[in-house]
Amino acid sequence: MPVCCRRSGRHTAVPAASVHGVIAATRIQQRRLLDLQHVDTRIRQLRYRRAHLPEQKALDDRAELLDRVSAELSATRERLARLEREQRRHERELETVETRYGVETQRKYSGAITSQKELAALDGELSSMEQRRSDLEDTLLEIMEQREETESLVAALTEREVELADEVTAATAVRDKSEVEVDEELVRQVAERETIAADLPAPILKYYDDVRTRKGGLGVAELQGRSCAGCRLELTASEMQEVKQLVDRGLARCEQCGRILVVP
Ligand SMILES: [Zn+2]
Repeated sequence: MPVCCRRSGRHTAVPAASVHGVIAATRIQQRRLLDLQHVDTRIRQLRYRRAHLPEQKALDDRAELLDRVSAELSATRERLARLEREQRRHERELETVETRYGVETQRKYSGAITSQKELAALDGELSSMEQRRSDLEDTLLEIMEQREETESLVAALTEREVELADEVTAATAVRDKSEVEVDEELVRQVAERETIAADLPAPILKYYDDVRTRKGGLGVAELQGRSCAGCRLELTASEMQEVKQLVDRGLARCEQCGRILVVP
C-alpha cells in the first residue's frame, strides 16, 4: 500500500482508493470500528485464556504429582518384592542349617564316632553352624523390619495415589467446564464480530485489520480528551482541529502510533 498521499501536519489521512485520499467512513462506521475493536480484544483475551487456562495448570500440577507418587509406589512395591524374596531365601537357608545341625547333633550323641579328633571336628562344625544360624536369624529380623516399614509405605502411597487420582478426575472436570465456557463465549464473540463487520465496508475492514495486525492487536483508538488512547500522545489544539475535520470525511490516523483515531 502506498504511503499516505495527503499529509497535513502530524495527522494524516489514511491512504486508500477513496475520496480525497481518505478512506471514507461515516461517524457511525467509525464508532462501529471501536465496537469491532472491543470484540476483537475480547476474542484475543479469550484465545489467550483458552491457551493458558489456570484450570489446566491446576490439573497438570495434580497429574504430575500423581505420576511421581505412582512411580514411587511402583519402586516401593519392587523393593517389597525383593525383600520378600530375600526373606524366603534366608528362611530356606536357615531351615537347611537347622536340619543339618539336628542331623549332626544326633550323630555326635549316637556313639558312632569314637575318634576324639573326629568329635572335635564335629564340634567345630556344630559351633560354626550355630554361628551361621544366629547370623541368619539376625538378618531375617532386619529383613522383616524393613518389610514391615515398606509395607506401611506401600499402603500410604496406595492411599495417596487413590486420593490424587480422584483429584485429577475432579480437576479434569473443572478444566473441561472452563474450556466449554470459554469456547461458548468465543462462539458468541465471533458471531458478534461478524455482525459488526457486516456493517462496515471492505476497505475500512481491510485497513483496520492491517493496522491491528501491525499494532499488537489494537488497530483503532479513541481520542480521549486530547490524547490518543492507543499511545497516550497528546494532540495540540491545531492537531485536534485537524483530526476533527478529517473524521467528518473518513478515517484519521494517529501519526505517533499509526492507529486509526476515532473521535467520540
Ligand atoms: Zn496513537
